[in-house]
Amino acid sequence: MAVHVICPSLRCRKILTMDDNVRGTLVTCRYCSMQFRVPAPRKAPPPSATVRQAPSTNLKVAG
Ligand SMILES: [Zn+2]
Repeated sequence: MAVHVICPSLRCRKILTMDDNVRGTLVTCRYCSMQFRVPAPRKAPPPSATVRQAPSTNLKVAG
């Protein structure tokens, strides 16, 4: 799975497509040759964080 990282160089800011296993490692931008560390992936949110289905509102129309 590929990841997209933005080059941190303010004069570059290119979007680099890299393999998923570069996370947490130093990579070199192919455009400006700047070395930077790709941030590690965040932990997956707990299952309880999934969006619940909102209950249907029972609005009575006056009149
Ligand atoms: Zn760059």
